[in-house]
Amino acid sequence: METLEICGIEIEIERKKIKNLHMYIHPPYGNVTVSAPLKMSDETITKFVASKIDWIEKHQSKFQKQKSRVCHYLNGEEINIWGKRFTLTIIHSETKSFIVSGNDALLLIDENSTFEQREMIVNNWYKEQLEPVMLEIAEKWEEIMGVKASSYVIRNMRTRWGSCNTSTKKICINLQLAKKSPELLEYVVIHELCHLLEGSHNEVFKSYMDMYLPNWRSLRKRLNEKAIGTF
Ligand SMILES: [Zn+2]
Repeated sequence: METLEICGIEIEIERKKIKNLHMYIHPPYGNVTVSAPLKMSDETITKFVASKIDWIEKHQSKFQKQKSRVCHYLNGEEINIWGKRFTLTIIHSETKSFIVSGNDALLLIDENSTFEQREMIVNNWYKEQLEPVMLEIAEKWEEIMGVKASSYVIRNMRTRWGSCNTSTKKICINLQLAKKSPELLEYVVIHELCHLLEGSHNEVFKSYMDMYLPNWRSLRKRLNEKAIGTF
């Protein structure tokens, strides 16, 4: 992919058969990509992007703030569960466990525990929460869609919300979805089940999504929130 440095920001340029210029700012790092019409010159792109520098910086700083909200498992921090925010209270204890009640989330852990140890306890809890809800959603939609996955696995993934191996029919769901609203989990499960009907993200796939979950585009947008500008 071609890149241009504009006002000190490295910008990835993708040429497409389109009429307008689209600019995207991606979380969590705020990197910028531009989709530009095939014949648009570098000079025109540079001028355009330079004129939108305020817009870019505004969204980059927004993502920067969101990034610092990543949980460190410290006392008083906010922690997300099923799309709601809870306040984390650390209780020093020999017992290791994570308890959620009311608006509080209590992490029982020994004083010298590391970030990784705290994260593991909370992630195990997330997995326990996610599994029955995911299986219930999956069962409901397998029946509606007339498909069947061979197995469901929950994994902590960095780059994707789910995956579906179309030959083994194994579906993998990201543990991080336990932090989001359950309707977003449902969207991901339906997306992966649609791959049992159509392997790629083509028009056939989209027509299945439209049929089973007409508002899937807005759910996808909520899940992968990025700033988009069309100019
Ligand atoms: Zn897919």
